[in-house]
Amino acid sequence: MGKKKRFFFFGILMMMVISLNVPVLANTTKSLKDIKKQQQKLQETLKQTQQELKNNEAQQKNVKNEIQVLDNEIHQIENKIEELEKSIQETEAAIQKKEEELAIAQAEEEKQYKTLKKRIKYMYEKGQVGYLEVLFQSESLTDFLSRLEYIKQIMQYDQNALTQMQKTREQIIAQKEEIEEKKKQIVSLRNETTIQRNAMEEKKKRKGAELATIRLDGEKQKQQLEELENSIKKVGDEIKRLTALSNRTYGGGKLEWPLPGRYYISSPYGYRTDPISGRKNSFHSGIDIPGATGTNVIAAGDGTVLQARYIGGYGYTVIIDHGKDNGKTISTLYAHNSKLLKKEGQAVRRGDVISLVGSTGYSTGPHVHFEVRLNGNHTNPLPYVKNK
Ligand SMILES: [Zn+2]
Repeated sequence: MGKKKRFFFFGILMMMVISLNVPVLANTTKSLKDIKKQQQKLQETLKQTQQELKNNEAQQKNVKNEIQVLDNEIHQIENKIEELEKSIQETEAAIQKKEEELAIAQAEEEKQYKTLKKRIKYMYEKGQVGYLEVLFQSESLTDFLSRLEYIKQIMQYDQNALTQMQKTREQIIAQKEEIEEKKKQIVSLRNETTIQRNAMEEKKKRKGAELATIRLDGEKQKQQLEELENSIKKVGDEIKRLTALSNRTYGGGKLEWPLPGRYYISSPYGYRTDPISGRKNSFHSGIDIPGATGTNVIAAGDGTVLQARYIGGYGYTVIIDHGKDNGKTISTLYAHNSKLLKKEGQAVRRGDVISLVGSTGYSTGPHVHFEVRLNGNHTNPLPYVKNK
């Protein structure tokens, strides 16, 4: 290595030192500027995050509104289908009645036909021109006239029988036509029902997709659950506030099971894996009892309807105050209904039908989410209800 080369390396080293040192030296003077810049950047990020949160909230609100709209539409279609099924039933009953009338008419016709056949057979056996023969056999004018009167009566009888039979025949044809008409009506009613059912399936699918978007978005999911937890808490506060105004006393005894005849519990009270978000250790504030959409939900006891409305994740919900027992207020909550049948402030009796089973709010299938609340706080409902 020559002197020149050695100098060259020294030069590079110096340059490296200088290039390293320059910013370090400048740092002290620049730091304030940098901090300010950093602060600005942080502020921007914060703003952005807040904006994102806002967007997220707006999106969530949209999804929630969409779900509520879909729930309402499904509800309306269910009502329409119910009406259609009622008309089908009525039409079928009308057909049955007509068919019974038809059977009677046909039996009548058969009887008339038999009688007539007997008559014809008699006339045939007595010769084709029975009437004239009878007349010719008369022995006197008086006899002739009385025979003529007799024949007239027989002819009248035959004529009446024929007319009667014709009438029955016409009646039968008219009844058959009416039945055909009614059967056509049923076909079109059934077609309409199918169309409505398909429309409903479509809406349910869309609701499923909406729920899936919530499921897919972890951030939304978290917020969703938090909101549900909030509404669970909020409901508690509302119950506390509302029951404080009530002076009802609990009637005693165990509460009624809310879904008569259906005792399967698909999800018990307590910690569980959330069925929508999949989050483990989420708390389930009631019990889930599956039942077909439209099944009657009954009041677990005598009481006053505290709330009957759409409550966030609960969907269409009824809350009933059953009064105070040992200084504690007892109330029950029934969520995810398809239809509410009682109004807020209304008094209900144990066993009254208060709503119909549905899948509104954050629910994956038709069921009743049933809660028992003591002083507004949820508790395991099982010790408080008659179980079967
Ligand atoms: Zn539930």
